[in-house]
Amino acid sequence: MNLKKRASGVLIVDDLSFMRTAIRGILQDAGIPVAGEAENGLRCLEFYYRHPVQLVLLDITMPVMDGIETLGKLLRLDRDAKVIMCSAMGEDSYIIRSIQLGARDFIVKPFKAERIVSAVRKAAGLNEEL
Ligand SMILES: [Mg+2]
Repeated sequence: MNLKKRASGVLIVDDLSFMRTAIRGILQDAGIPVAGEAENGLRCLEFYYRHPVQLVLLDITMPVMDGIETLGKLLRLDRDAKVIMCSAMGEDSYIIRSIQLGARDFIVKPFKAERIVSAVRKAAGLNEEL
């Protein structure tokens, strides 16, 4: 994958539209650009293939394709993909599996806005001024 074409911003992946909207608001309030939204793993991969973004925020429990399968496929598509899992499924097995597969971080819902913002900035290398 040609990294020169990497699109700026964050792709928000969650099957619940109110959750995508909440995360979008948190990022935008912090001045972090949002590249797009996807409602399941398949849509996420379709989006990422066309627009390899700086960072993906990835839910686990979704119809069509869940977050764990999506994480593996994203990293096969782009081994440098930066992915933060953001899920209510906070069991140790999911966290360990996600980190083993290559996720940069794991945020358990419900989350505080600051947790999302700091994790995104740290993983994406976005500086404090962004
Ligand atoms: Mg979900």
